[in-house]
Amino acid sequence: MTTGTQDANGTTLKQRYEDVKARIAAAARRAGRRPEEVMLCVVTKSGSVDQIRELVQMGQVDLAENRVQQLTQRAAQIDEWCRRREELSGSAPKVRWHMIGSLQRNKVKKAIELVRLVHSVDSLRLAEDIQVAAARREKPVEVLVEVNVGGEASKHGVAPGAARHLIRQIETMVNVKARGLMCMAPLEGGQDAARTTFERCREMFEDIRTSGAGGDRFDILSMGMSGDFEVAVECGSNLVRVGGAVIGPPQVTEDATED
Ligand SMILES: *Cc1c(COP(=O)(O)O)cnc(C)c1O
Repeated sequence: MTTGTQDANGTTLKQRYEDVKARIAAAARRAGRRPEEVMLCVVTKSGSVDQIRELVQMGQVDLAENRVQQLTQRAAQIDEWCRRREELSGSAPKVRWHMIGSLQRNKVKKAIELVRLVHSVDSLRLAEDIQVAAARREKPVEVLVEVNVGGEASKHGVAPGAARHLIRQIETMVNVKARGLMCMAPLEGGQDAARTTFERCREMFEDIRTSGAGGDRFDILSMGMSGDFEVAVECGSNLVRVGGAVIGPPQVTEDATED
């Protein structure tokens, strides 16, 4: 797909991208915040590599995948493309990958080589695996603790009551740095349920921050997806993970293979 190509719903990638950015900015202003305080991370899991290139060309820096296998492939493809762009134009576009899906132990090493932020740390064991895998790195691996705010059985994430303890434990690990919290709204209940979840997560985030448990730079609150990012921004999110609203109809479908 090239710039300007319309999808089945009659909009282009550029239009959707601009629209999402405008809606984030408007939601931030409604909440009395500056639009620059909210980072947009585009979730590319259902998009094509062409779309990713187009987004990067439009200046999008932060990209997210939820499976290590696809992340690895895409990071390599986009890296190669950036190198060629650099040869042609003298400057390489900047790209930062985020891992937002649940991370299996045997994929930790690969994932931390590629990403600037792991959004989905939900157990001490996973944090310890990252600590070990990152042993020879100069900088710690930055992570968010995923909280299952609503206590839904189907969701990943630590129970709200366990988040602060996990963050304290991460504070003792030299190669892992907790930068904040991540949460998802319940699947059911619409915008009202989303708002309740996001408000609770924001409170937890502020409590942990003021208690000092997260150390310095505990400052990222990752909440909000295509269906609820405006509510999330109104509730204090400073990192939204938006896929479908930017990508449009899926270009690649998620298969059921184990990652
Ligand atoms: C897929 C995904 C998103 C983006 O979802 P959309 O509804 O497509 O915006 C955000 N966060 C996580 C953890 C995801 O897996």
